[in-house]
Amino acid sequence: MAAPAGGSRNNTSSTRTGTRRCANRHAHGRHLCRPGDLHLRLRRQKARWLPGIRDGSVGWAQGYSEPGAGSDLASLQFSAKLDNGTYTLNGHKIWTSAAQHADWIFLLARTSQEEKKQQGISFICCPLDAPGVTVKPIITIDGNHVLNEVFFEDVKVPEENRIGEAGKGWTYSQYLLGFERTSYARIGGKRAMLRHVREVASATPDAAASA
Ligand SMILES: Cc1cc2nc3c(=O)[nH]c(=O)nc-3n(C[C@H](O)[C@H](O)[C@H](O)COP(=O)(O)OP(=O)(O)OC[C@H]3O[C@@H](n4cnc5c(N)ncnc54)[C@H](O)[C@@H]3O)c2cc1C
Repeated sequence: MAAPAGGSRNNTSSTRTGTRRCANRHAHGRHLCRPGDLHLRLRRQKARWLPGIRDGSVGWAQGYSEPGAGSDLASLQFSAKLDNGTYTLNGHKIWTSAAQHADWIFLLARTSQEEKKQQGISFICCPLDAPGVTVKPIITIDGNHVLNEVFFEDVKVPEENRIGEAGKGWTYSQYLLGFERTSYARIGGKRAMLRHVREVASATPDAAASA
């Protein structure tokens, strides 16, 4: 295989060292390295998180909504500031289902101010037992405790807890919401219910005919 433009094979070796070495060369090298670095990070994240998700031993909460950003989610104010490989998280999430039982939260945070508000949002994972995280219950009118508020005060998480590229969190969240919409639709169950309704209706004597 030919060495990629801008340096040796190490440039695409997906190692941090490789990335740094590449970054010291020229801009084209950086473009070649970045996907490799992201790919390696994703592989590490999958190895770290997927087994617990798969066997249900690790619970996750979804941190999208904020008091001023519900339907208009792109207005979110939750901030994540990156310094030396560490994000500092500050903000307030709301309507967070099952956060009282969850171990981790994936959340949307503003990492830069851009002209379009859907840009500059990043997708970050944070352990819910990290110092500075407070989960407060919201008791609904039926007396149930499903929903919560989650407060973050100077919570530190490593940069490697960010999923994908910085500033692309909106795209990732919309992709995930596509699954959520269809899972809540419970299409299989609805089909079964419709079948049952049809059976009941066809077995019921026609009221008009019997009158
Ligand atoms: C049971 C439940 C569980 C949830 N779990 C989670 C969770 O785990 N994580 C999470 O992040 N979020 C969660 N949410 C939040 C949810 O997904 C929505 O983001 C949130 O309910 C909408 O925001 P809001 O309540 O502030 O309503 P608002 O955005 O204030 O909207 C209130 C009403 O105004 C309407 N409206 C808003 N803007 C306009 C407009 N421009 N024109 C016309 N009508 C408008 C809306 O349609 C709505 O009827 C949950 C919500 C519920 C009900």
